[in-house]
Amino acid sequence: MSAPRRLLARLRHLTAHGTAPLAEFAHLVAADLVSEVCSIYAMRPGDLLELVATEGLRPEAVGRTRLRVGEGIIGLVAATGEALNLPDAQNHPAFAYRPETGEEAYASMLAVPVRRAGRTLGVLAVQNRAPRRYDADEVEVLETVAMLLAERLAAGGTADGAEEGLLGTVARRFGGTTIVPGVAIGPVVRHGLAAPPRCLLADDPALEQKRLAAAVETMQRGLDELISARLPEGEAPREVLAAYRLIAADAGWLRRVEDAIRGGLTAEAAVHRVGGELRDRMRRVVDPYLRERLADVEDMIGRLLRALDGSEAPSPVPPGAILLARRLGPAELLDWHARGIAAVVIEDASAAGHAAILAGALDLPALAGARGALEAAESGEEGLLDADEGVFVLRPEQEVKAAYQREMAARRARQARWASLRDRPAVTADGTPMTLMLNAGLLLELGQLAATGAAGIGLFRTEIAMLARGAVTNVAEQAAVYARVLDAAAGRPVLFRTLDLGGDKLLPGSAPPEEENPAMGWRSLRVALDRPAVLRKQARALLLAAEGRELSVMFPMVATVAEFAQARALLLAEAARVRPAPARLRIGTMLEVPSLLWQIDELLKQAEFISVGTNDLMQFVFAADRGTPALAGRYDVLSPGMLTLLGWLAGRAEAAAVPLSICGEAAGRPLEAMTFAGLGITTLSMAAGALPPVKEALAAVDLPGFRKVLTAIRRNEAAAASLREPIAVWAREHGVPL
Ligand code: PEP
Ligand code: MG
Repeated sequence: MSAPRRLLARLRHLTAHGTAPLAEFAHLVAADLVSEVCSIYAMRPGDLLELVATEGLRPEAVGRTRLRVGEGIIGLVAATGEALNLPDAQNHPAFAYRPETGEEAYASMLAVPVRRAGRTLGVLAVQNRAPRRYDADEVEVLETVAMLLAERLAAGGTADGAEEGLLGTVARRFGGTTIVPGVAIGPVVRHGLAAPPRCLLADDPALEQKRLAAAVETMQRGLDELISARLPEGEAPREVLAAYRLIAADAGWLRRVEDAIRGGLTAEAAVHRVGGELRDRMRRVVDPYLRERLADVEDMIGRLLRALDGSEAPSPVPPGAILLARRLGPAELLDWHARGIAAVVIEDASAAGHAAILAGALDLPALAGARGALEAAESGEEGLLDADEGVFVLRPEQEVKAAYQREMAARRARQARWASLRDRPAVTADGTPMTLMLNAGLLLELGQLAATGAAGIGLFRTEIAMLARGAVTNVAEQAAVYARVLDAAAGRPVLFRTLDLGGDKLLPGSAPPEEENPAMGWRSLRVALDRPAVLRKQARALLLAAEGRELSVMFPMVATVAEFAQARALLLAEAARVRPAPARLRIGTMLEVPSLLWQIDELLKQAEFISVGTNDLMQFVFAADRGTPALAGRYDVLSPGMLTLLGWLAGRAEAAAVPLSICGEAAGRPLEAMTFAGLGITTLSMAAGALPPVKEALAAVDLPGFRKVLTAIRRNEAAAASLREPIAVWAREHGVPL
């Protein structure tokens, strides 16, 4: 048996009884690594690291020496989760001298974090008198010892039990950003923290390699099954999962696992170790794309561990469970969804990330951020997620919980009412027909057409599928996606918007251009016109997908009629080549840039329809970045200025008999929707979840009556910042559900 394996075997024997003295642990490690000192620091409540055992430092320091996380070398290792290997520790900038320890005699130090299930439980350090850098084998041994020590610290408890018990009853709140709105109360389940393997050391490395290979195969098979069978509505969101599959086949991280097995670990321990390294690496990665990819690998590691211990079949979670995850890969989210989770909190998620896109498609209440929640929560504890307000509450107070339970019951009743609206025509109380359409961007969302009874797709954001996929796809791939959209619409109109990339929508690998104001920069149609190959390809894909059916296409971020004409000419040139030609090709535009308003008459001659993107139009009209939280709510679409603009536009479009619609987020809010209808804009396109409440509200509005009141409000309050309140008062008085 090699020396490290002999040490590990002895330590394993020690830890088997859970209560082995830590001093003995320290003694064995120091002897084996030929170090004068081995010290164990354990995490205490309040983020303090306490010296709990030492071989070599002064015994009276045990229980006395305490360092905050981040303080001294020990604190730094706990804070960063990374080992430090220092030949001259005392001259390291983080060194904090503690006279009671007597450590001034020791020059070199190797300190590694003791972590288990994503939590830092302590720090293990060895020190030597002579200045030296510890070699790779020594680092490896100490890291493996730290895994064993983690078991011991977890079993024996690292913190004062009484204090922990006290902490356990206090509600804690964590703020985050809404990914998918909704409310949930239920037991917490924690993701990505597979229990550390019980058996760390292998007697037969060859056998472990075989077990690993078998598990990899099982995992790959499971992934294929998942992709083909478990997707919602039977749809295959290839755009999300294709990139993921590539990672499953990537040999890099598997090779590291194999190396660790060669070093004497069991397959489980080796996978676990590589997973830990990966988590540490991820904490240092800033690039959002890379973080997403690494999250996918972490996802894969969880699958591999389950395949190894044969517990591949996922068991159901308790009803109403809220999943807490540091990061989450797309397949993992689908798995958890199949197991029955009711909501999800992802600490490290971006709204454009794969998991976020899937959560939206699955209509799973989801929150990003809430940092610290995962660390603070134990599985099975009660949690409350209010994704509407962006808060997660751990161990909610009884009264808070009761209030939310009432709210959830009211929501369920509302949902049932909305479902019954599906087949009713969208019409106001006085009988004015409304056209309510869907905003969509993924194949997954097509099922919402039937679920909501929408009149069609008023905005298909073609870039979303590509963002999810991570690349601009080729003509055939694009055509396949667009054809499926048209198939699902089954004759209902679909307004395809050409690629709207740039600003906050960046393809991975495309470094954002150095611009001071990317939202007003070289983006969207501007790029398309300067580099027309991509737009041409997309035009061809759309025309091919139509296969002789009617096709509607519009362009984003058009600032001048000349730009519109140029884009239109490009599309028409492709149309001249593609056969069969669409039954009808309608070419329209988004109206998002105010300059276009001053060319409205010319635009109305050339564009066959106009869709107002209030998200961008608002930001350019008010010179207020739509992504700046401090400006959120500062300027209102229901302000006198915006209503004048929209009312004027509606009048011009009507006079020219050009269909006008609104597809910004505002169209999906009942008060705004009825106001737009009051201005004469009766085609609105919105997210699926917004459609039923908008339909319900409009059904209660007597439009001629409201129009008169709206005119009076606009006249009387022309200097107000917003007309929201008087409009809402009228709505409430007339029984409009808002
Ligand atoms: C808009 O700007 O209102 C719009 C619908 O486009 P996006 O939100 O995709 O920019
Ligand atoms: Mg826009």
